[in-house]
Amino acid sequence: MTVAVPTSLDDAVRLLGEHPDAMLLAGGTDAMVQINDGRHRPNDLVIALNRVSDLRSWRHDPTTGIVTIGAGVTYTELMNDPLAHLVPALAEASRTVGSPQIRNAGTLGGNLGTCSPAGDGLPVLSALDARVRIVSSGGERTISVHDLMIGVKRTSLEPGEIIAEIILHTRAGWQGYAKVGVRNAMVIAVASACLAVDTDAQRVTIALGSVGPTVIRCTDAEGWLANVVDWSANSVAAPLLAEFGRLVSAASSPITDHRSTAEYRRHAVGILGQRLARRAFT
Ligand SMILES: Cc1cc2nc3c(=O)[nH]c(=O)nc-3n(C[C@H](O)[C@H](O)[C@H](O)COP(=O)(O)OP(=O)(O)OC[C@H]3O[C@@H](n4cnc5c(N)ncnc54)[C@H](O)[C@@H]3O)c2cc1C
Repeated sequence: MTVAVPTSLDDAVRLLGEHPDAMLLAGGTDAMVQINDGRHRPNDLVIALNRVSDLRSWRHDPTTGIVTIGAGVTYTELMNDPLAHLVPALAEASRTVGSPQIRNAGTLGGNLGTCSPAGDGLPVLSALDARVRIVSSGGERTISVHDLMIGVKRTSLEPGEIIAEIILHTRAGWQGYAKVGVRNAMVIAVASACLAVDTDAQRVTIALGSVGPTVIRCTDAEGWLANVVDWSANSVAAPLLAEFGRLVSAASSPITDHRSTAEYRRHAVGILGQRLARRAFT
């Protein structure tokens, strides 16, 4: 196969415009597995993105609170300061991804590109209402992460489009990520959840992974919890947390597969929701 190694986003976009069937390669931790297993056969060109500096940087505007993360930023960068301080839930999720080697190579853009329901970065992006800037030779568009993730390993990316940046707001309030797997490390999630509190807006958001065809936002549970929080004391009466867990479970839509059963996933994700809420509101 032929591999192109552009060093600017403009060049990457131009190459992809000229070869719309080309395969994008970021860290390669999903793509190379697919190629090695024979599940994907690049029939034209591979465009390696790891030297595109525009994709590998991030910035924070303290005035607006907006954090813009290049699609090529790795988990290792996300799990360390200063990014970890700005987006703690993304750091917590990143720490659970694979091994140090995978975290050094794997990127947030690649997690979105694969769009597995078990992708650890994705519930965090959902709970934080992230938006995604997508570029192509025809221009650019910025969409909600939910409009990008449309099914099991399916995105709404059109041929010729590259995920350039993920845009989110820092939040005042606790945020965290939790995941259940068949062991404690190097594990793909059987169920996962990210909960984020916005104390300024007196709002709670929670998104679930691995319990549906793609990430699920629990809007009923979010509204219910925000109404029972004592915002002046930042607390929730303990018995109410169980009801929150039940609402989270009810929002899930899991299947039984080689990793777990639907029943276990539905139960586990409710417990994760309950635990995260307990950590958020002591
Ligand atoms: C041993 C192992 C353990 C793993 N453990 C975990 C885990 O615990 N949690 C988890 O979530 N994942 C895990 N993964 C999966 C993988 O590491 C992640 O999904 C990672 O984020 C993929 O990023 P990447 O940069 O390697 O993407 P790549 O493999 O390079 O690309 C993945 C897909 O995204 C597309 N793509 C990449 N960049 C862009 C872009 N900028 N615009 C558009 N499309 C793009 C590619 O074309 C490809 O289809 C694991 C993988 C391995 C091999």
